[in-house]
Amino acid sequence: MPLQLTVDGERWRAHLRRIGDGLPGLVPVAKGNGYGFGLGRLARKADWLGVEALAVGTYEELPQVADRYAGDLLVLTPWRQFADPGTLAAKHAHRVIHTVGRLEDLEQLLERQPSARLVLERLTSMRRHGLSAADLRTAIQRVSGHPHARLEGVAAHLPITQGAHLAEVERVLEEAGPGIGQVWVSHLTGDELTSLSAAHPDLRVRPRIGTDLWLGDRGALVVTSTVLDVHPIRKGEAFGYRGRAAPKEGHLLVVSGGTAHGIGLESPMSGSGLRDRAATVARGGLDAVGRVRSPFWVGGEQRLFAEPPHMQASMLFLPADAGVPAVGDLVDARVRYTATTFDRVELT
Ligand SMILES: *Cc1c(COP(=O)(O)O)cnc(C)c1O
Repeated sequence: MPLQLTVDGERWRAHLRRIGDGLPGLVPVAKGNGYGFGLGRLARKADWLGVEALAVGTYEELPQVADRYAGDLLVLTPWRQFADPGTLAAKHAHRVIHTVGRLEDLEQLLERQPSARLVLERLTSMRRHGLSAADLRTAIQRVSGHPHARLEGVAAHLPITQGAHLAEVERVLEEAGPGIGQVWVSHLTGDELTSLSAAHPDLRVRPRIGTDLWLGDRGALVVTSTVLDVHPIRKGEAFGYRGRAAPKEGHLLVVSGGTAHGIGLESPMSGSGLRDRAATVARGGLDAVGRVRSPFWVGGEQRLFAEPPHMQASMLFLPADAGVPAVGDLVDARVRYTATTFDRVELT
């Protein structure tokens, strides 16, 4: 019955190994829904890869990975006074590397945890979090002169679009000055990482990678939904939550996967120009009959939502000339992995 992610384990692991071997210093990122796989599974895979550090998005995610992975744990969200490692066991505290993006946070963190390990984040063209150039220098001096705190380097979070990434990282390194030790970067290309390392032989480059690691070989992944019910319907017959009339003769197909899985909250991965309409359909504000494509493929074609997705199932409209699947048949779904909660993840 489930919305299922099936992973070709051998192929997936080969891809992970290839990326890991090609990028010394790799920091896999495991955050959110675990890129569709779940945080626990990614933590075990990071352990299997033998990487030195794993990054999580938030403090709340730490307890989900700490027992499954043995190395350092970088928290990507900058530390704040309300940061709460939740139920993280005290025995793991020494493995946590904090990200610090404001001078006032640095002072409060050092006060609360004098032996903290921390990375100083520089504000980049992303303009999300981070210190100014002047504050970065102040912070480096402060931590370097501190008797217990451990400076683990600087961090730069770059936009995903191609641009002057390398120049931006070079500028941060220049601001930080010699001897910073490590630079933690996001969204540099392989070539950029190589030239950065070559230009700074005494610097450890730590690429933080999620999507291109876990989801980098889409051929290893298949998402399927299950046909839960099939009903023939005549033109004009009523169906669904709002008693809409069928536009044509055909079949209503009820398949697993609804808003609780993230279905319909995002536009389908394929098909263009439908983003706005798909977003509208999730809010239920649009008469969707025959107008909005679902992420479900039946008989080799992307099918239309008959009405906005329900919580755990979706109603699709199949025109009269389409082949009709049977209850229990699997249909392909093309979803956005980072926004989908699967009922089951099968690793073959
Ligand atoms: C999420 C995140 C990453 C990983 O991003 P991907 O695009 O999934 O590789 C890297 N760095 C930071 C700061 C992030 O928040």
